Amino acid sequence: MESMTTMKKILNECCGCAVPAYPCVPSCPLREVTHFYCDKCHEEKKLYEYDGGEYCIDCIEKMLDVVEGSDG
Ligand SMILES: [Zn+2]
Ligand SMILES: [Zn+2]
Repeated sequence: MESMTTMKKILNECCGCAVPAYPCVPSCPLREVTHFYCDKCHEEKKLYEYDGGEYCIDCIEKMLDVVEGSDG
């Protein structure tokens, strides 16, 4: 079972590997391309596991507490 919070979509991105009037070949790697989306901002980015979810680095950074005085 997948986590309910994981934003993941499998899309068919095939656009023209096949001859017209024939369906995409079964071996086409673009038929099932998995896309991952940040649990928080829902943008498609590189994700990191954090606190039970999957987030982009920007969202993780916002969730972290900055050490006072360390950010200039
Ligand atoms: Zn295809
Ligand atoms: Zn995000």
